[in-house]
Amino acid sequence: MATPTIHRLDEATVARIAAGEVITRPARVIAELIDNALDAGAERIEVTVDGDGTERIRVADDGCGLSRGDAERAIERHATSKLPSGTETDLTGVSTLGFRGEALAAIADCATLELVTNDGDAVGTKLRVDGDVTVSNAGRAQGTTVTATDLFADRPARRESLAGEAAEFGRISELLARYALARPDVRFSLTHNGNETFATSGSGFQDALLGVYDAGTASRSTVIRHETTLDDHGDLSVQGICCYPSVTRSTRDHVRVSVGGRPVTDTGLRRAVVGGYGSLVAGNKYPIAAIDIEPPAGTVDPNVHPAKEEVGLAAREATEAAVETAVSEALTTADARRTDTAATDLETELAAVDRSDPFGDVRVIGPFRDLYLLCEDGDELLVVDQHAAHERVNYERLRSAVADEGVPTAPLDPPETISVAPAAAAAAERHADLLADLGFEVEPFGGGTLRVSGLPAPLGRVADTELLVETLDQLAAGQQPDNKRDELLADLACHPSLKAGDRLTRDEAEQLLDRLGECEQPFACPHGRPTVCSLDESTLAAGFERGSTRFR
Ligand code: ADP
Ligand code: MG
Repeated sequence: MATPTIHRLDEATVARIAAGEVITRPARVIAELIDNALDAGAERIEVTVDGDGTERIRVADDGCGLSRGDAERAIERHATSKLPSGTETDLTGVSTLGFRGEALAAIADCATLELVTNDGDAVGTKLRVDGDVTVSNAGRAQGTTVTATDLFADRPARRESLAGEAAEFGRISELLARYALARPDVRFSLTHNGNETFATSGSGFQDALLGVYDAGTASRSTVIRHETTLDDHGDLSVQGICCYPSVTRSTRDHVRVSVGGRPVTDTGLRRAVVGGYGSLVAGNKYPIAAIDIEPPAGTVDPNVHPAKEEVGLAAREATEAAVETAVSEALTTADARRTDTAATDLETELAAVDRSDPFGDVRVIGPFRDLYLLCEDGDELLVVDQHAAHERVNYERLRSAVADEGVPTAPLDPPETISVAPAAAAAAERHADLLADLGFEVEPFGGGTLRVSGLPAPLGRVADTELLVETLDQLAAGQQPDNKRDELLADLACHPSLKAGDRLTRDEAEQLLDRLGECEQPFACPHGRPTVCSLDESTLAAGFERGSTRFR
């Protein structure tokens, strides 16, 4: 990368830049410095923090570095190499993370700043900004190291507003996690009070996930690569990594998104990622996923948020739809069976099974407590939850039946009259089509009374009127008809499914596995619980304190 030439932005461009207080806490200093390192083409970024970050922050990179003249200009306000000089600039085309030319100046304003840099010359430059600017020679390989010490030393109010060392460092860790997952091609490390707390090797999404979480989490994930064309805009690429639905957290914080390698806190995109998991993840749980999108050229406006945490997307709706599709397709083709051991060999665990027959080589051993089916699958012991597996099979059957011709109805003779709350009666009228699709025959009778002449009879078993009352209450309470449809199908699938205590013959057990193998999403029941757990032989070997498994 050629050494940039830094110049001051023209007034008109400065006026249009979303101005904001850039430096509000230590993590913001680090974000700006990482942005600069990435813009300089760094392949390796080392972040060092002492205390809560106000004591010392250091970011070292192996990017292009700066010449002495550029280094001196870099710390001026509105001085940047990233926008063309002279004319008023269209910010929509900007592909760098920085463009405002004010971060170094703002950091120098509220901390003592030292910048050591070398653009490939024999001698590097050291700049110390502490009120005055001191320039000297420095030995350094190509790249830049920026150190900020005594942050907010003369801003007591800022210092007061910080949340303490643990919380500030927590923000910094999360920031590094977001960058590491947005730029899995770059090596990141974070050192706190002398201890390395986190590192990635720059070799892809799985490795980044391993750095941020652990081997067990990384081994239960699948990589996403999805390309599509957005009408009137151009090509969109979606890539990233998503953990299997069995790996969940109780907050949305582990769903991370970035746009063109820039981490953003975009609610719509995160919702789209969660949407891609659909009913595979239970309603009160969230998945772990990191998605980076590369929108068509010229459709991103980076200039909508002071801390650049949000971006404007010209084709937002289509982009969110594409993200949802990318995630749900990746999960459909992944082997998402839950495993009880942390894999030691990442690569083999991650290979997706042949989706045409995930249980092709599985041998049924027999029932356990008439609730689980034990099976042998190579060197794994599979435990299948009979009820959950059967529910999944029935749910997928029902779903396709509904798509074709609706759920069959069993007539209720004589018809039953039920009274419901006025809001529920109104919901019955409003959602008459949905109810008919689902096999209910309902007629409003006036005054909160409904006449029920038919009930859903999925797979040969008849539902009861209580299900109708429940459904109407939830629709009246504002539940989305589409969600309600999925939920009802899941409930209907539950009714005729195997119960605890149902003993299967060997033939039936094998059939259940065959049917489960034909499912689109075999590894979770329609309510999001797993259908299959697997236990590695090596786990048993460890339990029995055997040094190795039988064959080794
Ligand atoms: P901006 O990033 O918006 O341009 P900054 O104040 O962050 O503004 O940086 C000013 C300029 O300094 C950048 O445009 C870039 O040319 C140079 N610069 C800053 N940090 C680095 C770095 N780590 N490596 C190379 N050049 C840098
Ligand atoms: Mg910058």
